[in-house]
Amino acid sequence: MDIGAHVDQTDPIAEARARQAPLVQFFLGDPQGYKGPEISYAAGADALRDDAVAAGVDLYVHAPYIVNVATTNNRIRIPSRKLLQQHVDAAAAIGAKGLIVHGGHVNKSDDPQVGFDNWRKAVDAVDLKLPLLIENTAGGDNAMTRYLERIQGVWDAISSCEQADRVGFCLDTCHAHAGGNALETVVDDVRAITGRIDLVHCNDSRDDFDSGADRHANLGAGKVDPDLLAAVVRDAAAPVVLETPGGADDHVADTRWLRDRL
Ligand SMILES: [Zn+2]
Repeated sequence: MDIGAHVDQTDPIAEARARQAPLVQFFLGDPQGYKGPEISYAAGADALRDDAVAAGVDLYVHAPYIVNVATTNNRIRIPSRKLLQQHVDAAAAIGAKGLIVHGGHVNKSDDPQVGFDNWRKAVDAVDLKLPLLIENTAGGDNAMTRYLERIQGVWDAISSCEQADRVGFCLDTCHAHAGGNALETVVDDVRAITGRIDLVHCNDSRDDFDSGADRHANLGAGKVDPDLLAAVVRDAAAPVVLETPGGADDHVADTRWLRDRL
């Protein structure tokens, strides 16, 4: 099983080497800004793509947190869609295997159906040059991908899109736990809806089940049952990205913790 980590974007190849990881995930530019993607790798996008291939490292890009293509607010939805396309283009340019994006949310009083339909419009509007992996979230008012019935709504909406087969799922274990989804069944539950799990974000949680809080912890140091955490990773049978606190040493320790239980 391939296990890597979320790393700094300046030199993802060096970060992978420091963790002996076959894959890494990173942001392209400011995860909280609308400015658009930037390639921090000194030698540029083409070199990053080629160097990753040469090093045998798979790259994954995490879209900015502020992307919310579901919202009814035009001033957020329209720039979000633009930012998503820009990140698709940049991630494809570096040969990334996938672009991870959060499901987003609608406003408190909105009908979630509008959010589902906005997802459909986004998938129709964006030219998906690489797989787009929609991630479950831990909280958020009226979230699109916290609870299973909402994930179902998103998938029902996008299933008619021409590019539906380019949309996959990223299962975050911290978000599933804190979001209130039983880890005993979440892999089967998600697969029954999406038909696929393309990537796992393996994180422990500092918070209780269904707390709605998004605070990652190192593996075994949080409130997720260790056996369940390992079982989710095993059953999902997809590449794993650790988004746990700390640097290379902590990620090496988390990788060892996980491998010992798989
Ligand atoms: Zn995550």
